[in-house]
Amino acid sequence: MNIRLGTADLAKYPFLNEAAEYMHQTYFNLDDLNLPELGHIVERASNRLRSEIEHGRPDYTLERHEVEILTFLVGILIIKAINSDNLTKKHCLFEALRAEKFLVRDLKAQGELSTKRLLLFKIFKELLKMDVLPSLKYQLMFEVKVADYLKRSHLFHEQEWKLINRLVHDGRVFLDPDETVRLIRAEVANLLLERIRQMNPSHIPSTIREQAHILKASIPVASSKLDNSPLAFPPCISHALDEMTAGENLPHSARVMLATYMLAIGKNIEEIVSLFKNAPDYDERVSRYQVEHLAGERGSHVRYLVPSCAKLRNDGLCFATSQCDGLINPVQFGRAVKFNRGETNVSQR
Ligand code: SF4
Repeated sequence: MNIRLGTADLAKYPFLNEAAEYMHQTYFNLDDLNLPELGHIVERASNRLRSEIEHGRPDYTLERHEVEILTFLVGILIIKAINSDNLTKKHCLFEALRAEKFLVRDLKAQGELSTKRLLLFKIFKELLKMDVLPSLKYQLMFEVKVADYLKRSHLFHEQEWKLINRLVHDGRVFLDPDETVRLIRAEVANLLLERIRQMNPSHIPSTIREQAHILKASIPVASSKLDNSPLAFPPCISHALDEMTAGENLPHSARVMLATYMLAIGKNIEEIVSLFKNAPDYDERVSRYQVEHLAGERGSHVRYLVPSCAKLRNDGLCFATSQCDGLINPVQFGRAVKFNRGETNVSQR
């Protein structure tokens, strides 16, 4: 069955090959972006990137397909001109989050099963080489092969994603629409990242270079006030910090570990919030609220403790070395290292 995407679908999923085909058919030329008639598209793409940088929020507004496809393209060109790996990763994650919202909505759509969902299965198949089928057993659930599930779910550290906690039947895992789409978020983001890295435009129009210049000046510089020498932090914390510096999207459990550990060793809220500046979805207001909450300054006013090594091992966040021998909590790490090096302090004698 040959299923064609409609223009409304291209607006939601502008990273699909059909969107590129559409642009090709319109004889679009990169220099057209210097025309005043397309100024609003350049401005829209630039505002979208600014919102990602400053507020850590994707833009979910949906315009006509021509506008969306061009905004997507201009966004990528600006990113290319800025040439920042962190920003590129951040943008790819936001594009994936944006698509995720539309995918969930489309998967939940009732009564249009024959077309809408078939289109989505086509997207899963063509883009991700993965079969997603509506479950005949459970209403509004989807089935994926165990192998497809495992290939993707290992990226999640939360217990609910472990296969043992899933409903499995006849070699297939059952997922609701949110879980189905969540399963592929990182993959869509990585796919976009690959495409942007491989993209080699013949030239960048002057209007795009101008916007890139303005946006580049507004990118926050990550604070590195913390002592991040290899011996300063336990391996789990060093690993999370390295990931964060590389602009990776840490799972919630890793962020809690990082923040509670920093609080436990006496870092202040300001220092901890600034640690998260490289996170793809960084929003200073949200980060501050969460850190203050963990510090017991909000909500229940309970100060959260650093999770135990056993819990972190279980969550896939432990990267133990021989220096971790005998530890039951990461906060003990510094003491163990000093002790091993014969640097016991007064309180330890
Ligand atoms: S053993 Fe504990 S301190 Fe060491 S890496 Fe694992 S969780 Fe961190």
